[in-house]
Amino acid sequence: MQSRSVLAALAFAGTLGMLVPAAGEAQTLRGSPSSVERMYRQARSHALPFYRTPGGVQAAAAEGELVRLSGNSNYRVAGVTYPYALATTRTFVQRLAEQYRDVCGEKLVVTSAMRPSSFRLFNSVDKSVHPAGMAVDIRIPARTRCRTWLRQRLLHLESRGVAEATEERRPPHFHVAVFPGPYRRYIGAGGGESKPAARKHEARTERPAPRSTYRVRSGDSLWSIARRHGTSVERLRAANNLTGTRVKPGQTLAIPAR
Ligand SMILES: [Zn+2]
Repeated sequence: MQSRSVLAALAFAGTLGMLVPAAGEAQTLRGSPSSVERMYRQARSHALPFYRTPGGVQAAAAEGELVRLSGNSNYRVAGVTYPYALATTRTFVQRLAEQYRDVCGEKLVVTSAMRPSSFRLFNSVDKSVHPAGMAVDIRIPARTRCRTWLRQRLLHLESRGVAEATEERRPPHFHVAVFPGPYRRYIGAGGGESKPAARKHEARTERPAPRSTYRVRSGDSLWSIARRHGTSVERLRAANNLTGTRVKPGQTLAIPAR
């Protein structure tokens, strides 16, 4: 386990903004060394301890530094040995699951949460943030519509700089690391649970409404298309999984609802 003072120094560096990814930097769910690095830097910048042993996890849970993911009417945990995470990560799961259930009519499934570093999987990376309680793995939905919604939702949250997500193949899952500080700011001052009214409102406004499509003509830019449809470049990119800002004539774009 890292010494707290070293991590506190790193936390200070984090407040200088050096460790926060630029908005819109990561617009893909493909894993990469830089994606792993971003998650790891976030854990360090928040001075999070990395738990090494099951005993350490139990002690942290007893002290309230980690909370239990118990499932609710919107999500369930399946085959998770250590169903513990940071409180912000649990809040993230609860909110995402509420929206997911709304859209898909089924529960979100969490397949991994805390993994003490002494229990590292053979294919996990050295800089995994599972031992810090930041990350959860989410089962990839079988239904296309639900899968697409979840992908777009995770991309959106990534573009807001509050989480980093990757789509993993073996076994198939979304790996999601939730950045505590940025996420707490994102859901409103005070952190933790949002007020029920605010949650309802968000679920309503952020649910993907029926969308129209637009065929790109020559001379169009993402900016002009966004302006004409009363949306933003950021939302257009998120809705279409675009990594850059270039569009080609003939390309069909999904237009997010206003
Ligand atoms: Zn993972």
